Amino acid sequence: MTEYILHKDKSKCYGCRACEKVCSHNAITMEPDDEGFLYPVLNESLCVNCGLCKNVCPHDNDFSVFEPVSVYALQHSNKDVLSGSSSGGAFSALADYVTENSGAVCGCIFDDNFKAFHTVTEKTAVIEKMKGSKYVQSDTADSFTEVKVRLEKGQTVLFTGTPCQVDGLKQFLKKDYENLLTVDLICHGVPSPLLLSEYIKYTENNKGKITDLKFRDKLRNGWRSEGTVVYKIGEKKKVLTISPFKDSYYNLYYMRNSVSRMSCYSCKYATHKRVGDFTIGDYWNIPDVVPQTEYEKGVSVVFANTKKSEKILDEIKDKVSLYETDLSSAVKGNGNLSRPSEMPESRKNIYKKIKEKGYGATVKEECQFSYVIPFIKRHIPKGLKKYLKKLLG
Ligand SMILES: Cc1cc2nc3c(=O)[nH]c(=O)nc-3n(C[C@H](O)[C@H](O)[C@H](O)COP(=O)(O)OP(=O)(O)OC[C@H]3O[C@@H](n4cnc5c(N)ncnc54)[C@H](O)[C@@H]3O)c2cc1C
Repeated sequence: MTEYILHKDKSKCYGCRACEKVCSHNAITMEPDDEGFLYPVLNESLCVNCGLCKNVCPHDNDFSVFEPVSVYALQHSNKDVLSGSSSGGAFSALADYVTENSGAVCGCIFDDNFKAFHTVTEKTAVIEKMKGSKYVQSDTADSFTEVKVRLEKGQTVLFTGTPCQVDGLKQFLKKDYENLLTVDLICHGVPSPLLLSEYIKYTENNKGKITDLKFRDKLRNGWRSEGTVVYKIGEKKKVLTISPFKDSYYNLYYMRNSVSRMSCYSCKYATHKRVGDFTIGDYWNIPDVVPQTEYEKGVSVVFANTKKSEKILDEIKDKVSLYETDLSSAVKGNGNLSRPSEMPESRKNIYKKIKEKGYGATVKEECQFSYVIPFIKRHIPKGLKKYLKKLLG
């Protein structure tokens, strides 16, 4: 049995579903805990103690570590693709390469109720929905099993996800498939689906029905940690910018680090040593590294961790701008390449507090800061605002 199933220590389970999917006796089901994160629940009467669940658990097993072969800054050459991507459009460049070669892509999409889950597809419209970071834990659902079926049939599959999901898939497969390509994201941590649904309920009660939610949206202010919520009041459509300074959910997740899954705070993948063929993320410090990029439009950091990934980057180089950089600059600009996000004291009770007091009352207590900045911004004269913006870059 896995460490988590034995000891119920929440830091020891990433919620990837590998144990559930490998159990041929259906002795494991994944169920949400009080915080809304999925954990395995064992039906002891069905368990035959075969040990398969432990054998595939990414927490309990070492992962095959890749030291990055080379590190790049990447920017997609298609302006529309670039503007619709969180960073520099690395995901789309790789997804296009795979689908042009009759492959399938597995990644995270939102359903109509903003529930994030992984799906496998060749359809352009669905791959389009995978674009954009969803700052919530994605349910891998049946994707591991479906990826395996397709790999066995000989189809190329590109799997994208957080490093624990990539490792979960690889542990579940227990075989090196030449036709599998994996992309791990540099990851800050994942909040629970329950928190996102509480936020949506709260926003809808106060503002109107949410029709679109993007945690990353460049359309208003370019490439930054900023997104948009679109909601309807009567027949009118309103677009609200969300950022760590303005929005309670973003603030709790990104600024306070107080709502991630417990395992994120001791994440073993928060290192420059990687689990996927590719690693992708934001190259936030690119202006200091390659100043000639059009960095205000977004730049991806891309690690080629295997020979396979080096070869593919060479094949897509006419569709992207690619600049070879170095590991130390990437690590310098991205904290989660050297350590997990730190757990604040407030993490211990935040979900309990939301349950007892409600989302609105909790964020009023926890996020005072997020209301101060917009207030100050509103009251600074325009000229001074322009001067400060210039001064602060
Ligand atoms: C929860 C989370 C935390 C992140 N933290 C960091 C960070 O600390 N530093 C950093 O540099 N980058 C981080 N990223 C990655 C970054 O935000 C971009 O997703 C990445 O640079 C890819 O951008 P892109 O332009 O290539 O592609 P995009 O078109 O934006 O592609 C998005 C890709 O992310 C996948 N994805 C989206 N949401 C999820 C999810 N919830 N779970 C699993 N996969 C998902 C999609 O399947 C797709 O492959 C994080 C992403 C997520 C989802």
